[in-house]
Order: sequence, then C-alpha cells, then structure tokens
Amino acid sequence: MDTTGSGLGRASAPAPAPTLAIERDASLGELNSFRLPATARLLVRVRSEADVRRLLADPECGRASKLVLGGGSNLVFSRDPRAVVLRVEVKGRRLVAERPDAWVVEVGAGETWHEIVAWTLDQGWPGLENLALIPGTAGAAPVQNIGAYGLELKDRFESLDAVDLVTGRTVTLDARACAFGYRDSVFKRAALDGGLAGKSLITRVRLRLPRPWQPVLGYLDLERKMAETGEAAPDARTIFDWVCAIRRAKLPDPARIGNAGSFFKNPVVSAEQCRDIIGRDPEIVHYPMPDGRMKLAAGWLIDACGWKGKSVGRAAVYERQALVLVNRGGATGAEVVTLARAIQESVYGRFGIRLEPEPVIV
Ligand SMILES: Cc1cc2nc3c(=O)[nH]c(=O)nc-3n(C[C@H](O)[C@H](O)[C@H](O)COP(=O)(O)OP(=O)(O)OC[C@H]3O[C@@H](n4cnc5c(N)ncnc54)[C@H](O)[C@@H]3O)c2cc1C
Repeated sequence: MDTTGSGLGRASAPAPAPTLAIERDASLGELNSFRLPATARLLVRVRSEADVRRLLADPECGRASKLVLGGGSNLVFSRDPRAVVLRVEVKGRRLVAERPDAWVVEVGAGETWHEIVAWTLDQGWPGLENLALIPGTAGAAPVQNIGAYGLELKDRFESLDAVDLVTGRTVTLDARACAFGYRDSVFKRAALDGGLAGKSLITRVRLRLPRPWQPVLGYLDLERKMAETGEAAPDARTIFDWVCAIRRAKLPDPARIGNAGSFFKNPVVSAEQCRDIIGRDPEIVHYPMPDGRMKLAAGWLIDACGWKGKSVGRAAVYERQALVLVNRGGATGAEVVTLARAIQESVYGRFGIRLEPEPVIV
C-alpha cells in the first residue's frame, strides 16, 4: 500500500487470498455501528476483484442473493439477512494524477473514509476536510453521496470501479453514470427504477481534489467557528479540526452509543407547502434549494412532535439531536424499526410530510 503518496505508481495492495474467506453463522453485531444483533448464514470477506469472481463461481454463493457490507454505519439489521454478506475489505491508496486543475487519488473501497480524509490532508492534497469523521468505508461514500458541512462526495468525485455481481465484469462509472442526488445515487435505487442496488460491488473510488484549493465555509456551524475564533481565512487543517470538534459535540460516538447517524433524510417540499407550514409553525427550520424548493430540518420536525429522548424498548431518540436514533444497549432491529415508524406517523399526522429513512433497512 502506498501510504506515503509520494509516487504515482500502482498501490501494492495485499495479494488476494487464493481461496475465498467464508465464515458461517457469523455474528454481525460488531460489524454494524448500531450494534444490532444479526447473524449472516454466510459471510465472505472481499479483498480484491478476483475474490468477487471466485465468489460468483462458487457453487454455494454464486447464485445466492448478496448483501454488500462496508463499515455497517448506514445499515439497520431488522432481522438476519437472508443474502450472503460480502464484507468489502479492498485496500490501497495512491495518487493517480497530478494535474494543473486537480490531484486525483484512488482508494480501495474497504479503506476507512475518515482515514482517507486525514491522509490526503497529510499529503498536502486538501479538499475533503468538510467530510471528516463520517464513519464507514470509502466504497460506501458514493452509495449515498455522503455529505456534510456544505460539501457532498459528488463535488470531489472523479470515477469508480465496480464489479457486476452477476457477470463478474468490472465497469468504470463517472459522476453522470452514478446519478448522484441528495443522499442518493444509482447504487441506492432498485433495478426496477433503473438502479444498481444490490447489483454491484464498488471496489475502487477516485477522488478529484481541485487546485487551487478553495475553502467551503458557507455552513452556519463553520461561520460560527470563524466568528468565535476570529479566523477569517482558515486553512484546510483548521477546517478539518473544526468539523471534527463540531461533530464530536453534536453526534453520539458509535464506539460508545450504537447509532447510524441521521436516521431520516431532510424532506424537500415545494415553496408553497413550506409557506403553508410556516403559517402554522413559524419557527420551522428550512433552507432554500437552488431549484426553488425548500429543505426542511427533519430533526426539527421530530423534535416538534415531542420525540426527543423517547424510546421503544432499548431503541431511543437521542436527547441531544432528535434526528439520531440510538441503541441504549441491547436494542433489536425490530425495536428501531417500530420507533422509526411511530416517528414517521406522528410527523405525517402533524405536518403531512413523509419522512424517508436514510439508512438501508435490511
Ligand atoms: C455517527 C454517524 C454520523 C454520520 N454522519 C454522516 C454524515 O454526516 N453524512 C452522511 O452522508 N452520512 C453520515 N453517516 C452515514 C454513514 O456513515 C455513511 O452513509 C457511510 O458512507 C456508510 O458507510 P459504510 O461503509 O458504513 O456503509 P454500510 O453501512 O456498510 O452500507 C451502506 C449501504 O451501502 C452499500 N455498500 C457499502 N459498501 C459498498 C460497496 N463497496 N459497493 C456497493 N455497495 C456498498 C451497502 O450495501 C448499503 O446499502 C453517519 C453515520 C453515523 C453512524
């Protein structure tokens, strides 16, 4: 693995195991950030594209349905998955191009996202700092077009490689083919809607870090930090430190309290619908979108319905941020789903808005 980033050469990822690493009746409790109990009948660790092809040729796994698992930070196991679970552990990181307009970095899908953000900064290739501390793997980052503090993955995306889980063929997709949207991409959409959900396994992601670097500071929390510190022109390292500090203060650390981050997407409504809601609830937190529609803060809607701190069994709404559901210790996926449905019903009852879960419910 080229962790120095000093050259443009190929990354020396560990040699693929000659046989598949298959585990039977594997516990998934430690492989999901919510710490929900679940067991995989078969769990296969995928360290290379060759592993995927071996898997497809395997009589037991080849034809079975498949569930791709990264860091498990955006998945809710409401039951044991019936599919063969493919844990993505493809490693490697390297600089593939140094152009006048950008550095292009390629990372293995199994690399930890936050480590990649920190590594690029250490190498002197800024641009990912606003996305610091998002849990999970680099391979999952395009799946829901991760975003935070005014930046989305699509703003730093060059292309990715993915293996088709039926044919075993590798394809390279650019941003257009990935069809990125708000917490959405072709990888989240079902085949019936022209999507690739469950159909392919991303093995490598290439990130484009624009030169010259421009800070992204138009987000309220970052503006507050600028005002507090008097730092009018923060560098990338400072923004990275600010984002880490803000996130640590706001969000529960999955290492201590099981959770999957924001449980619902912020709903987008028409300007007319928003005006209507403001008429009844003038305090509602809303942001204008470039297309004239309005994004509403889902956490505000949930809080307004009185859910903060409430629980179903051992699943609860986090006291400090109503958008986050947490595992108080020993929660089951069924409890999380029951709590989520109850929240959806009460938000719909009061505001006429259907909240859509952000994590994938298995
Ligand atoms: C505390 C906390 C804070 C968070 N904050 C944010 C945030 O600010 N912004 C944000 O956008 N998200 C956030 N998230 C959600 C989550 O971290 C991201 O969605 C992350 O990208 C998920 O990565 P993962 O490897 O854990 O994916 P997983 O949970 O393992 O998988 C998520 C989905 O992606 C698919 N998938 C995973 N890897 C691959 C692959 N290699 N190829 C194909 N499909 C794949 C899975 O099948 C599944 O459908 C947060 C989560 C937590 C727990």
